[in-house]
Amino acid sequence: MLINQKNSELKNIVILATGGTIAGTGEEGKTTNYQAGNLDIQTLISSVSNLDKIANIYGEQIANVDSNDITVNHWLTLANKINELSKQEDIDGFVITHGTDTLEETAYFLDLTVKTSKPVVLTGAMRPSTATSADGPLNLYQSVALAASDLSIEQGCMVVFSDGIYSGRNVQKVNTFKTNAFSSIEFGCLGYMRDNIPYFFNKSIKPHTIDSQFDISKLNQLPKVSIAYFNIDADPSILKYFSQSSEGIVIAGAGSGTFSTKWLQAIESLELKGIPVVRSSRIGSGIILEDDAMDKYNNCIPSYTLSPPKARILLSLALTKTKDYGEIKNIFAEY
Ligand code: ASP
Repeated sequence: MLINQKNSELKNIVILATGGTIAGTGEEGKTTNYQAGNLDIQTLISSVSNLDKIANIYGEQIANVDSNDITVNHWLTLANKINELSKQEDIDGFVITHGTDTLEETAYFLDLTVKTSKPVVLTGAMRPSTATSADGPLNLYQSVALAASDLSIEQGCMVVFSDGIYSGRNVQKVNTFKTNAFSSIEFGCLGYMRDNIPYFFNKSIKPHTIDSQFDISKLNQLPKVSIAYFNIDADPSILKYFSQSSEGIVIAGAGSGTFSTKWLQAIESLELKGIPVVRSSRIGSGIILEDDAMDKYNNCIPSYTLSPPKARILLSLALTKTKDYGEIKNIFAEY
């Protein structure tokens, strides 16, 4: 891919479109009952005024789906494409448009698997393009501006949403319909966008991009990891069921990654089968550490501050490297 450099003063940014509400259409003015992933990348680009004043843009359609239909194949395509294109000197950064429902998962996967210090920014929208005050155009404008900023180099994979800049590791969707739908809760945002100017205040110190040990270049699948949600009286047989089809299990536990005595008993047989079990939490903030009672069996691993879907990604990538419980524990402590 060669960027047609229209303005040699500007950076060259590749936009990879995957669909979502930002590319959604519905009844004029309405924010509900629309179809996600309907507009193509060229229409999206042309809907943002002044985009050509902040960067030279090259757009490519990777998919056009609701983000609930994003798969590991999309992840591998995105990571491999970014890894390939980032070697080109005439490409300065990347923006990925994505549905918001699973945006934090793709952001974390790319944070751990792209091998470039060039900026990678994900964005989306909570309102379809046909809504009154659609939020997609400003989010896309600010994402391109962030990807084109020197300040963004070596910041890992970021998310821009509603004037906030978030790290791919810590970002979470926190609202089902409001435009200010993303947050890093207790870790705070990395900074703010005001128009096209980024203001950074924080940095994630966890290994990412060029410092991450994970290499997906030779993979066409990832080890399967399933998430089991715990609640009062939750049936422990879900753990046995998942153990038949998965190489690892993440528990969305109560409180600090806890569950019942019955679930703990079920974990003993998983230990013998060689299946690691990561204890995460359904709470959404706080930390989960090693705990003598809950980590009775060697296969139990605390997720620290990773949410269940993010712990699933890290466990899956860890399993591409090792099946050793101790080594997987170290990976969770480091990342
Ligand atoms: N269901 C949509 C999606 O994730 C929601 C959105 O983009 O806001 O694709």
